[in-house]
Amino acid sequence: MLVDEAEIYVKAGDGGDGAVSFRREKFVPYGGPDGGDGGDGGSIIFVADPNRNTLTEFAGKHHWRADNGKPGSGKKCYGRSGEDMILRVPPGTLVRDLDLGLDIADLDEVGKQVTIAQGGKGGQGNYHFKSSTNQAPRQFGPGEKGVERNLRLVLKLIADVGLVGLPNAGKSTFLGAVSHAKPRAADYPFTTLEPSLGIVELDTERTLTLADIPGLIEGAAGGAGLGHDFLKHIDRCKVILHLVDLYPLDQSDPIKAYHTIRTELEDFSTDLAAKPEIVAANKMDLGIEEDDTLDQLRAALPNTKVFPISGATGEGIRPVLEELWKRVHGDEEG
Ligand code: GDP
Ligand code: MG
Repeated sequence: MLVDEAEIYVKAGDGGDGAVSFRREKFVPYGGPDGGDGGDGGSIIFVADPNRNTLTEFAGKHHWRADNGKPGSGKKCYGRSGEDMILRVPPGTLVRDLDLGLDIADLDEVGKQVTIAQGGKGGQGNYHFKSSTNQAPRQFGPGEKGVERNLRLVLKLIADVGLVGLPNAGKSTFLGAVSHAKPRAADYPFTTLEPSLGIVELDTERTLTLADIPGLIEGAAGGAGLGHDFLKHIDRCKVILHLVDLYPLDQSDPIKAYHTIRTELEDFSTDLAAKPEIVAANKMDLGIEEDDTLDQLRAALPNTKVFPISGATGEGIRPVLEELWKRVHGDEEG
């Protein structure tokens, strides 16, 4: 199973103490203070690495500590600084501080780096404390403690397109019909409770990533503790593809089904609900002649493009993919 959450403890390195030392020279019975500064502790730094795609490594190891700085020594020698610890996480990882109850970093772009726990500063050696009234100071600066944090890492899948629709609208079927490769579908058990990700190849140069979000209703507000959590996986998509079953088995109204999902989206996040949406009116293969279900849906949604499709036969899917491509990449042209 794909690990998309992990709880870890991180501790940056402590700074080294400053040294207390006095010069000893031949014929100089009592030299001046020459204790060097302690080195800085290493920091804990997160990097979004495109070659990582799970948090498995972090689910298996709880404690992550960066090196401490070394103490200073005589002859004003600095202590060596502790090395930073670089933690490589998949792009899309959100870092939450459990003690603060706050999201503190969002590694949403490849290559992004964030210092999550700052190493402690090294302390000053005793020569800094020399003054006219204190020629032989025995004070020194203690190294600062490195920051420690308890964290929860959450990997949000980053999909171009978020697939929504009531249970049985045909989302899984659609994803299966359009995805050639499903690198992650294998990682997720294909149940109704886990989102899955599919890569759609329009042609050799154009690919789209689609996330299938299991029946919103099952996971939504009132739904038995499952919460809206699933929606985090499409939080960041650029376009919503909303699948509506034209001919539900229970004879329910497709227009009502559409609005049910819209309400769920808006309850979850106004940002998400504001994304561009296209509607795929699914299961057109079940239609009979002189049927106006599609026309009624179109009339009810005058501002939304509605594409009749069949995930089962593949009919009408190509124009949907072209439209998705245009919406996802439209802002890059011109
Ligand atoms: P999901 O819950 O939205 O993922 O829906 P599924 O993809 O699991 O499909 C629900 C049911 O509808 C399954 O029995 C599918 O075989 C059926 N189905 C999906 N797409 C079509 C379609 O285009 N035409 C027909 N006739 N049946 C479909
Ligand atoms: Mg499904």
